[in-house]
Amino acid sequence: MFQPTGPDLSLPTASSTVELFRDPVSVVFNLPGYQVLSACDLPMGGRRVIAAADSVEAACPDCGVISSRVHQRTRQRVKDLGVGGKNIELIVIKPRFLCTEVACARRTFTQVTSQLPFRVRCTARLKAAAVEAVLDEGMPIWRACARHRLGWATINAAVVGGGADAMGSDS
Ligand SMILES: [Zn+2]
Repeated sequence: MFQPTGPDLSLPTASSTVELFRDPVSVVFNLPGYQVLSACDLPMGGRRVIAAADSVEAACPDCGVISSRVHQRTRQRVKDLGVGGKNIELIVIKPRFLCTEVACARRTFTQVTSQLPFRVRCTARLKAAAVEAVLDEGMPIWRACARHRLGWATINAAVVGGGADAMGSDS
């Protein structure tokens, strides 16, 4: 609805919803569930982006109790889509949470997201782009490997898995 004047047009305050008003860099980078902390050009080409998940708490994979107590934060280099015609070196700051449930045998657990599931080292959107290139554009896997900087086995497994899902949803 068009509103020419009034308080609704004022800029969001710090307390307003993070989801709706992301910072400009995070909007452009557009990795779902993540905000960009810093970005720079690399001397040999490409760009480095450092990002962290929006979520500040997570459920223990064993007992399901939600924890926001961070044991430590680690930096993990993951593969991601290029942005603006440049390759991206994406570094994700991953919290390791303490499980606060006394009856649970697990002490700590690492954050997982829809873009970066457990033990995965490339974003879901990068894998989806590679699968799309192979299945929709008919690109040979070896070429998709070069374009998306992923290994043959990674793309092949995603294509086989994605193909099975697609066939399942069509039937
Ligand atoms: Zn637990």
